[in-house]
Amino acid sequence: MTIIADTSFGTDNLTSLKPNACPVKECNEEPTQIGKLKVCPKHGLEIHKSTFVYYNGEGLEDKKKSRLRNILPFGRDFVAKHILDNPHKAESYRLGSENSEDARAGRGKLDSDISGKAAL
Ligand SMILES: [Zn+2]
Repeated sequence: MTIIADTSFGTDNLTSLKPNACPVKECNEEPTQIGKLKVCPKHGLEIHKSTFVYYNGEGLEDKKKSRLRNILPFGRDFVAKHILDNPHKAESYRLGSENSEDARAGRGKLDSDISGKAAL
């Protein structure tokens, strides 16, 4: 199953997680069970107890796309070329996690650049 979604979600789009439900505001999609995963097929999110991971499917390219969704659009080409699958970058598979420190660091930098004060 490949999911086409390429949208990223931030606090403006999310609601507090109900157990086993998609965290996107006003999403009433029934999660799909894929192996051990619960996935919102509409938004392409793997739903965990208190967080989510971007999910576009199990194929190699699907997994790369999932991780890039957590990166701001203008940085995706750079991350795809230099960071994904770079043997010197530990745990790049975690970039698709909502709480990825590396993805958050990039967003925080942008937020501080825009607002003139540090985010987080
Ligand atoms: Zn959803």
